[in-house]
Amino acid sequence: MRNSFSGGTFAVASRRVDLHDSRMSEERLSIPEYAMALAEVASLRSEDPFRKVGAAALDWDNRVIATAYNGLAPGFDAPIGFWDNRDDRQKFMLHAEVNLCSLFKRGEARLVATTTMPCTACMQTLCAYGIEEIYYREIYKESDAPEIAMVYGIKLQQVG
Ligand SMILES: [Zn+2]
Repeated sequence: MRNSFSGGTFAVASRRVDLHDSRMSEERLSIPEYAMALAEVASLRSEDPFRKVGAAALDWDNRVIATAYNGLAPGFDAPIGFWDNRDDRQKFMLHAEVNLCSLFKRGEARLVATTTMPCTACMQTLCAYGIEEIYYREIYKESDAPEIAMVYGIKLQQVG
């Protein structure tokens, strides 16, 4: 990330963004794309070797109020061997959306972008926080998020 802007390109997760690409200079990022780019940068901070998820929240004026990623409880240092088993670690991981919601009060955030579709529990949490629009990049097939969004009238949309 050093000299990220003077170098002309930088990597946001797995996607390379060319700042001199004519499309980039002529077209402005949409608000969902902007939030997703922030979520992708946040995911780079995840210490989970198996799944890195980032999330970003915007308020009613599209101002960034929080970014977060999946990880262990604050202040917890994983002992040696903690990351050896993918299944064993899972119950200890605090999901990006939960960490995100810990940073604001209900009703403060309007839009959330998350690099992976929220799991069922995170979708319920986002509902409780009054989020109206949720954007994700990767589909998470085990999630009931689409059904929850439909019933509660929340916009849930994939951003490419
Ligand atoms: Zn989750």
